[in-house]
Amino acid sequence: MKAGNPPAPMLHACANCPVHLVCCSVSSKGGIVESPYLLPTDIKAISELKALEPEEFVEYRINEITGNTVSFVKTPKGVGCRFHDSLSGKCSIYHARPLDCRLYPLDVMLIQGGYYWILWEHCSITQDDIQALLAYGESILPLIREHLHDYATVPMEMMDKSPFQIIAPIQFPENYAEKAKI
Ligand code: SF4
Ligand code: SF4
Repeated sequence: MKAGNPPAPMLHACANCPVHLVCCSVSSKGGIVESPYLLPTDIKAISELKALEPEEFVEYRINEITGNTVSFVKTPKGVGCRFHDSLSGKCSIYHARPLDCRLYPLDVMLIQGGYYWILWEHCSITQDDIQALLAYGESILPLIREHLHDYATVPMEMMDKSPFQIIAPIQFPENYAEKAKI
């Protein structure tokens, strides 16, 4: 993917959000936001944009549920994201930002054997925003399908105890499980 990921919808809630400038580490209702999950295409796009080797910005973790190595943005403080510019309050890799960021506060979770869209409740998103994000999420599913099992199951130390609500089941085409080897 050369020009980064497909553009995400602008969320109405963000315009007046009290934590807009620090959203990448602190949510509107005070919850901590972890550094983003990185898909291989995210790593490639960031690497090209910033002329960085992956080792310089990727933190590799083991997903103990799948046994796979998964990638997150490496952060020196353990909270937030190294690409957040604290002076401007902006993302320094905006046009190459990961899908995880574009989807936030929407996420994917494996619940009792099924994949669901979930919403982290510590963000003050509106109903219109949820529908827009859901439509976006459905549109980018093909980009994450091979990695969905890791994406949906990897433990996140700080957000795992955060409240969330289930929005909708994720519908897959037939044979998805076989193709994705889940
Ligand atoms: S995503 Fe949520 S927490 Fe972040 S700026 Fe928008 S409304 Fe606020
Ligand atoms: S990559 Fe950009 S949008 Fe994503 S968490 Fe970091 S600063 Fe925020």
